[in-house]
Amino acid sequence: MLDESEFEQMLIELMFGHDAMERGQPEAEAYRSALDIYEEFTGLRETNIRALYHHRIAMYGPPCERCGKPLRTPAARFCAACWHPVREPGQKFVDRVSPRVWITFHAMQGRKRGA
Ligand SMILES: [Zn+2]
Repeated sequence: MLDESEFEQMLIELMFGHDAMERGQPEAEAYRSALDIYEEFTGLRETNIRALYHHRIAMYGPPCERCGKPLRTPAARFCAACWHPVREPGQKFVDRVSPRVWITFHAMQGRKRGA
């Protein structure tokens, strides 16, 4: 699981990977850098690119009081694993990224339009 700073670094690498694939690079090669960063942060070698988008701590809630598994969302009203009710549900997860990610994204889009 990645914190927000780690997730954004990986997200930028995923965007570069997507861009490289659009330019014809094979998937395994295009996303190698994103997978490397994920491994660097977690110590685990993920092979499924799509799974990387879900390894973000902010998407989940705190551990369940009964079983200890993370709640499926910060706003969960009960634990999906053991059905234990949550006394004080948190706020809904809002998908936000820093300006750094948007700057990279728009730079890529501008380059594509200019190409
Ligand atoms: Zn539970």
